[in-house]
Amino acid sequence: MINTIPVAIKPKPIGVVRSPISNRDIMPPSGEMAKILVFPEYARALKRIEEYSHLWVLAWLHQAEREVLTAVPSKVNPTVPSFGVFALRSPSRPNPIALSLVPLIKREGDCLEVKGLDVIDGTPVLDIKPYFEHDTVFSPCSPYIPARKKETMTQALWGQALNHHGEECTDLKLAVRMGLFIEERLGYLKNPELKLKVIGSPCLADCLQGLTRARLANPPRFAYQEDPEVKKVIWTKGQEIIFMTVVPKLHSKEIMTLADEELFTVQKRISIVR
Ligand SMILES: [Zn+2]
Repeated sequence: MINTIPVAIKPKPIGVVRSPISNRDIMPPSGEMAKILVFPEYARALKRIEEYSHLWVLAWLHQAEREVLTAVPSKVNPTVPSFGVFALRSPSRPNPIALSLVPLIKREGDCLEVKGLDVIDGTPVLDIKPYFEHDTVFSPCSPYIPARKKETMTQALWGQALNHHGEECTDLKLAVRMGLFIEERLGYLKNPELKLKVIGSPCLADCLQGLTRARLANPPRFAYQEDPEVKKVIWTKGQEIIFMTVVPKLHSKEIMTLADEELFTVQKRISIVR
């Protein structure tokens, strides 16, 4: 068995990140607008990159600890048991390579403007690759790490709904609020035992599908009935059933701030299996 590496690995940065955030402690969980300045000698490697909407950015986290092999995802929830760093996206790892998937907003010469990049100003960039449609895994399995703060959970759900739906519409906000409500009561939204039936607009159905990753079949967790008059979702997990109906005539601007009872009427039932 060969246990030595035949070639010395010396990655050479191809560019650098310019971000308004220069301290990792204040980096928002969803990252920040940033620019990637590609060095002139690599400019030709950007040819036709603007034909892609999303990019994978590999960066070198020059400030990260490299001796750590287990860690707690403390930004999400410091109370959960630790994971090995290869089972986390922690910056601490033997080779502190960051892997970020970001939308490409625009290219200006050797400069790529991207959204939601979660590395700080001055981070060296090692590589850029395009994101392909077939990179998508619709219902992956991953351990459930519930966010401790509601704000972190809201941001996470918002990002998931937006990735799936592609626009920040009124129904995306309603879906996020429903997701927060249900996660608190029925647990993990992607639990294979959680089923939902959406009666209402295609936007609401789409956003909730993005949040729950529920498919129509294999296994059947999701059902949809288009109805322009109501917005109603029936959630089922085991014997528990929650009916949520959106209060009519809400203003889009107030959805994220209203109390649950001002947004939804909720009925709960326990189904009796004979
Ligand atoms: Zn929409």
